[in-house]
Amino acid sequence: MSSETRQWQQADSDHYLHPFTDHHDLGTKGARIITRAEGVYIFDSEGHQILDGMSGLWCVSMGYGRKDLIEAGYRQMQELPYYNSFFQTSHPPAIELSELLAEVSPPGFELTFFTGSGSEANDTVIKLVRRYWDLVGQPQKKVFISRKNAYHGSTVAAGTLGGMGPMHEQTGDMVNHVTHIEQPYHFGLGGDLSPEAFGLQQARLLEEKIQELGPENVAAFIGEPVQGAGGVIIPPDNYWPEIQRICRAYDILMVNDEVITGYCRLGEWFGATRMGVEPDLMPFAKGVTSGYLPLGGVLVGSRVGEVISSQGGEFAHGYTYSGHPAACAVAIANIRAMREENIAARVKTDIGPYFNERWSTLAEHPIVGEARSIGMVGALEIVSDKSSRARFHKDLNTGTRCRDFCFENGLVMRAVGDSMIVSPPLVSEKAHIDELVEKAWRSLDQTLEAVSQG
Ligand SMILES: *Cc1c(COP(=O)(O)O)cnc(C)c1O
Repeated sequence: MSSETRQWQQADSDHYLHPFTDHHDLGTKGARIITRAEGVYIFDSEGHQILDGMSGLWCVSMGYGRKDLIEAGYRQMQELPYYNSFFQTSHPPAIELSELLAEVSPPGFELTFFTGSGSEANDTVIKLVRRYWDLVGQPQKKVFISRKNAYHGSTVAAGTLGGMGPMHEQTGDMVNHVTHIEQPYHFGLGGDLSPEAFGLQQARLLEEKIQELGPENVAAFIGEPVQGAGGVIIPPDNYWPEIQRICRAYDILMVNDEVITGYCRLGEWFGATRMGVEPDLMPFAKGVTSGYLPLGGVLVGSRVGEVISSQGGEFAHGYTYSGHPAACAVAIANIRAMREENIAARVKTDIGPYFNERWSTLAEHPIVGEARSIGMVGALEIVSDKSSRARFHKDLNTGTRCRDFCFENGLVMRAVGDSMIVSPPLVSEKAHIDELVEKAWRSLDQTLEAVSQG
């Protein structure tokens, strides 16, 4: 290891308190320092070239080094690097982007509220939903129903909406009026049920929960069309339509968290469309700028939008960086590029199906219990016994070891317990998918060998 890398690592563990990291561990192991990136590859300070199977954190959909995105940000910073849109001011990038987002959104989504991140988008959802029910004279409708193993961000409110074990524990019950139902995770919870029977069963947990709480007290249901951070949980086809039926029957708002699934990742502009449903609100972030600058927001459907725009009174909410001009300029360039390069269609009919087919071959590996994917996200379930779906002993840290082998082999693949997940850039070529699958297979071989030795 170079002395430069060692110096970076020392200063890093001395001063940089990382997100989602065990700081003590970081001090002993040292971070991998990523210094540059191009296309679908990242490069570390030791000069290793690594295929980015996660698109950064699910966000670099259009790949690294795009001159159109970079120049859009640069030009905007020269023109107007910052101004706000509080108190009846506005600026062209935020106006233009909100117009463009309405064009690529499903019918009825005419309004966008901008934030700096997905977490802030979900905090905004909570306040918008509350405001809506207040304005329509049903202020007692307060409860959010979310799902176990959901990820909605890490601010206090978004973290409370989420349901991933350790994280939810640290947020605890800091925010009231949030409750969780079980997730539509067929491999983990479905047992012998067919996906269809399981899909209906899991959706009807929502109905039971609404009846238990009283529909007059329930404000909204929130869910990711496909759970991302929880392990790429793809619900059975009938799950979302049944959720929608229940929300409508009991007059509950439906929120689809599109932070990962929005902007073409599932082969439609939005995951909701892929799932065949029409939500009331869609929080987004990540892929909207391909991660080049931070930007998030909430797309507001007509039901909520019409009430908020027609009734008087200020919506007492906003961030200094809501509609940041440079971030908006990059988002405009990104959405235009997605449109011009037909990225949704590419994912739906070309690179997506190729990835799905190649990914599914990993199910033949001796320690893979399931290889599932949809659009450009996928998961592998590592098991010690395929037929019983039994896992390796927890202390073997099988998933983490597999992830480390991947890194050594020049591939970023993430571990969620003993599930391995990927979310490759939407601009990946077939050769990149081949490389991803070959490296994943080799890493699985090494994982099997390592866990066999204890
Ligand atoms: C990443 C993510 C968030 C949080 O977004 P941040 O920009 O990290 O705050 C919210 N919801 C989902 C589904 C996500 O994947």
